[in-house]
Amino acid sequence: MEKLLADLNLRYELNVPLGPLTWYGVGGPAAALAHPSSIQQLSSLLVRCREAGKEVYILGQGANLLVSDRGVDGVVVKLDDPNFSGMEKQNQKIVAGAGMDLARLVLQAAKAGLAGLECVAGIPASLGGAVRMNAGGAFGDIGRSVKRLQVMDASGQVYYRQRDDLMFGYRSTNIVAKCILQVEMDLTPDDPEELIKRVKEIFLYKKNSQPLADHSAGCAYKNPDAPGEDEMANLPRALLRVPVAREGRYSAGMLIDRAGLKGYRVGGAEVSPQHANFIVCYPGCTATNVLEVMTHVEQVVLDTFGIRLQREVVVWP
Ligand SMILES: Cc1cc2nc3c(=O)[nH]c(=O)nc-3n(C[C@H](O)[C@H](O)[C@H](O)COP(=O)(O)OP(=O)(O)OC[C@H]3O[C@@H](n4cnc5c(N)ncnc54)[C@H](O)[C@@H]3O)c2cc1C
Repeated sequence: MEKLLADLNLRYELNVPLGPLTWYGVGGPAAALAHPSSIQQLSSLLVRCREAGKEVYILGQGANLLVSDRGVDGVVVKLDDPNFSGMEKQNQKIVAGAGMDLARLVLQAAKAGLAGLECVAGIPASLGGAVRMNAGGAFGDIGRSVKRLQVMDASGQVYYRQRDDLMFGYRSTNIVAKCILQVEMDLTPDDPEELIKRVKEIFLYKKNSQPLADHSAGCAYKNPDAPGEDEMANLPRALLRVPVAREGRYSAGMLIDRAGLKGYRVGGAEVSPQHANFIVCYPGCTATNVLEVMTHVEQVVLDTFGIRLQREVVVWP
């Protein structure tokens, strides 16, 4: 790894534990952690890794990430250099680096009297991670504010993706590029005081309904689609008693709760007693504990309701 990176004129460290860089706080090391300070450096790094057959992983704030106990035998890139985390306001538009802290961006936009990002208040993320996951919730998602993206593909080429060819779905996007570099957002003028009030309200709503202080990756599972009318006759009886929560989907948390799994624990990992879609880590927890809880939850929900839960949390490798 040293040989691979040494002449790239890039800041990096070898054999870095990734747990402390994620919200779960568990998992093994990365063979290397790189902090490029320019597009050119990142591009050279991607070219070099591609030639050497080494995988590159992009790390945001690790708020939706579970790193396995083995860690990753590749290069993890963190866009924490100021060149990747600045922001500029241009009339109704904000252009910001993908490494920018989402909470800071939300507040800056509100203070500048630009509406549209309040809906993601309280969601821990880098801007790039938020766009990649289309972070959001009951109040909306970040995708609806995105106008244009500057991205880099795995061969180090930079290009732009325009609003028209971007698709933002429920916790999903059609972004296939290796790395989001910069995000251009189209916002709406509004009263800064009202916006700041709204940001605080949404933050409090989240704080009161989710275990924000515990180690977790937020919701472990996506809310599954409810079946169509024609499938109703064949549904397991237990599922008929579960109400469809929102936008034609069941709440994954409600399914896990009704399957009796709140408080289910393996080692230091537990299905949160406060919010069943959160798997939280206590001292001594390992990534294997979290994965064991997930495997059990998935099996019990499948057996009880005939529903295969889809993971929202990204697992490395
Ligand atoms: C307490 C808590 C509450 C949460 N609540 C919510 C919520 O209400 N709504 C919600 O949607 N999510 C929620 N989450 C999940 C998480 O906040 C979001 O998924 C967030 O978007 C993750 O951003 P990140 O920067 O931490 O990405 P990471 O977790 O670091 O990475 C997630 C994925 O994005 C990729 N990625 C990161 N940065 C880039 C980039 N620049 N370019 C390309 N790919 C990139 C990574 O490779 C990885 O595949 C919550 C998490 C926690 C811990």
